[in-house]
Formats: sequence, structure tokens, C-alpha cells
Amino acid sequence: MSSAPSQSESVELTMDGHDILFPKLPYDMKQRVQGATNNAELQEFVNSATRMRDQMRINGCKDAFGENYDKIRTLAGNIKQHTLDHLDYYIEQFIDNATAAGTNVHYAADAEEANAICKEICQKHNAKLVVKSKSMVTEETNLVHELEAIGVETIETDLGEYILQLDHDAPSHLVTPMIHKNRASVGRAFARELGVEYTDDPGELTKIARRVLRDKYRQADIGMSGGNFMIADSGSVVICTNEGNGRLCTSVPPVHIAYIGIEKMIPSRKHLPVFLKLLSRSAIGSPITVYNHIMTGPKRNAEPDGPQEQHIILIDNGRTEVLKPETREMLRCIRCGACLNSCPVYRKVGGHSYGSVYPGPIGALLTPVFKGLANYKDLPYASSLCGACYEACPVKINIPKYLIQLRSDLIGGKHDKFVDRMFFKMWALSLKKAWTYRLAGKMAGVFLRLRNKGVKNKNPYLNRGWVEKVPGPAAGWTEKRDLVTPPTKDFRSWWDEHQKSKGGK
Ligand code: SF4
Repeated sequence: MSSAPSQSESVELTMDGHDILFPKLPYDMKQRVQGATNNAELQEFVNSATRMRDQMRINGCKDAFGENYDKIRTLAGNIKQHTLDHLDYYIEQFIDNATAAGTNVHYAADAEEANAICKEICQKHNAKLVVKSKSMVTEETNLVHELEAIGVETIETDLGEYILQLDHDAPSHLVTPMIHKNRASVGRAFARELGVEYTDDPGELTKIARRVLRDKYRQADIGMSGGNFMIADSGSVVICTNEGNGRLCTSVPPVHIAYIGIEKMIPSRKHLPVFLKLLSRSAIGSPITVYNHIMTGPKRNAEPDGPQEQHIILIDNGRTEVLKPETREMLRCIRCGACLNSCPVYRKVGGHSYGSVYPGPIGALLTPVFKGLANYKDLPYASSLCGACYEACPVKINIPKYLIQLRSDLIGGKHDKFVDRMFFKMWALSLKKAWTYRLAGKMAGVFLRLRNKGVKNKNPYLNRGWVEKVPGPAAGWTEKRDLVTPPTKDFRSWWDEHQKSKGGK
């Protein structure tokens, strides 16, 4: 055992988890980004963990699929797109089959309705303790706070989520929710909240969590889960976890409630292997998630385990709006987190900067669409549009295309500031003709050279000085770094001269 490190030795939370996910609207991303970009430790954790997982995805997918990788992504995307194109049909089929298997299926139009159904079930069973496996949609509806408010103790059982709950923190990644934390802060939270001796040994911390959680499973009145997939032709729910906590939550307590977004549907069990092969490989590079739990109805009489009562709450909460043809593709998402791991912006600013349950590139799309573009005007710009997210996505969601669409909606919808709109109008004008483009380039070069603050770098290739600050709409470019001063001879003149000298030979 070692002694607890001081606050300054690790990344500490300064905001309550609820405020991180549900900020005051309209959301100002820049404020949070300032905190993240000034926090070298946070950047180190997030950057190294995401780079490692991204490389594991690349290696895992290459080993498994070789040159067929693109084909299986296309197939997965097509299955999801087909299901979304006929979602009403598949939802009806799912409800019929799940009901026939003994499940109570509910439909909730929004978060309030979903939570009201859940609270009613809890009250009917006089529930005092709920154990819960990881579910992004329950974060969306703020379920834990709602249950706690009516006196139902609700315990997260995914290890990462459990740690966050103890620390009053919020998830910052779809798959690895505590990617922004180090083991010292986990040790401190355990010592403070559980009264155990401080340790930062991961094995010891896991043992402590297991000891506490095992009892909770046994005592719980209700087990809650999300669902990775719903299978229409059998009425089954599929839960994929690496810790087995999903299986314990759904099998040990007498009542099971599953919260699932309506987009999680697939037509048939025969389609499931395509997604099981892609989900874990895209998330962490491993061939398959450790526990893949397929549930069809509550426990039958002859079965030794399982809940006596099962409820599935199908949640819309803005999804039918996204289902319109122009944005439907966004709902293919299987929440693998690969787009987050591959994104240079996410690696730099971390998940809390996005101010919502869904961080990273897919969050930059879904959050403005779910919660209003005017409320999240910064998110469509939280991307370099490099396309890494599109390449990583196992269901081929063209994230950059939709980010550009949202940017265009912002300009067209007058949600942006007047000065920004003018800036983009001028930029568009300058790109329309070769001579205006050339003139704009020359003027930008002159402007930047006038702001040159002298040579700071002895690198002979960059021996042109640096621009420390540019004003106006471009100010963000120099907020965290300097720009190299453009050379007096631009590329076009160099190229012309080069061609002439070649022709002269
Ligand atoms: S958008 Fe694609 S890559 Fe990102 S989480 Fe969803 S499925 Fe994974």
C-alpha cells in the first residue's frame, strides 16, 4: 500500500457529473476546451489511451478481415440502414415476439416518459435497491438521479461507471467511460467513499469493487441494463459486456428493466455475428466481447436463473426526428467508440468538452440533432474533417459529410454570429475564381508577415519567424499555438519558376 497522492498529482474533477452532461444551454464549448487544453495530464491520459486503442482496432481488424474489412463494414452499414428504412415494421415484429416470450414492452416518447415508466415499476415492487449495467441511454434520461430522488439506491456495476459514480463524475468515452482518470484518483475515491485503505494498485481496486458489488447483486430488487442490439424476429435483447456485470444485473434480481433506444434493432439472429465480430474489434481490437448475453423473455419455470419479470422500455427521445432520410444514417451507430479513438480533436480535448452524453465525432453530430443546433453551435466545428472517424466507423457513417451539413445549416439558419457568416461568405467568394483565390492568398500572406514577431526557432526549414496572435474570427488558430510566417515567395511562384527551369534544361 502507498500513501494517497496530493490533489495536484492527478487529474481532479472540478464539476459535478450532472453539470458536465447537462450544461446550461446554449452550450459554450470553448470554456470547457480551455480547461482541457490547459490540463497536460488529462491530454496525456486521453491521448495515449485512444492512440493505443485505435492501433489495436487497426491491427485486430486487419488480422481478422484482411482485404475484406471494407466489405464487412459495408455489410454492417447496409443491415443497419435497411432496418432503419423499415424501422416501424421491425419494431412491431419485435414487440409481438418479445410479448409472446413473456416480456412487458413499453414505448417512451421522451426521457420523462421513460423514467416515469421505470419509476412506476420500481414503486410497484417497492424497490429500495437497483443494480445497473452500463447504458448510454440511461445517461441520456438522467435515470440514476431520478431514481435516487424517489429514494431508490441505484448502483452502477460496470467498474468504470462505478468509479465515476463514487467520484460524482461523468463518463467521457462511450466504451471506456473513465478514460480521463488515473488510478491515483480512483484510489482516493475508494478510500473516501468506501472507507478502505488507500491503494492505487489496479488489481486491489478491482477486488474491492467486486467485494462491494457482489453483495449489491444479491440484495437488489431490480436489475437494469441497456441493450446493444434488439432482434426483431425473436424479440431478444443482446447485451455485450467484458466484465459479466450485465449478466449479473439481468439474471440475479427478480425484475429486469432494459432501457433501449429504438435504433438498436436488427432484423434477425443471423445478422448478429456481423456486429459481434465488428463491435469489440472496433472498440478495443479484441476478437469478441467476453460476455454476449442474449435474453428472450423472463425465466421459464424449468430454468434455474433469470428474472421472474422483464420489462423493455423502447426509447425514442428525438430518434424519430433523426430518422428522416437526410439524417437517418446517423442512427446506424453501434456505440463502439472507434470514431472517438481515431479523432485528433477528441484526443486533445477529451469527452467532457462536448457537454453531452455522446462525446467525440458521433456526439458532435447526434447532440445538436437531438438537442437543437442553436444549443450546440460549436459541436459541428469540433472536427478537423480529416475523415479518420469515417474510416474507423464499422457501420460506415459518413460523419464528416454530416458535420459539413450541420455547418451549412448553421450559416443558412443564421445561428452563427454575423461576423462568422460574413467571414465564410468572403471565403466562399474567394474560392469561386482563380484570381480571387490568388489575391486572397497574397493578402493573407502580407497580413501574416506584418504580424511576424521575429525568429524563435533555429530550425533552418522554419527560419521565417512566428505569428503569435491573429485577430478576429481566426483568433482561435493562435490561441494555443503559433503560426509559421508564410514565405515571401508563395508556392505558386515557386512552382512556375521550377517548371521554367525544368523546361530550360
Ligand atoms: S459513429 Fe461509428 S465509429 Fe463512432 S461510435 Fe458509432 S459506430 Fe462506432
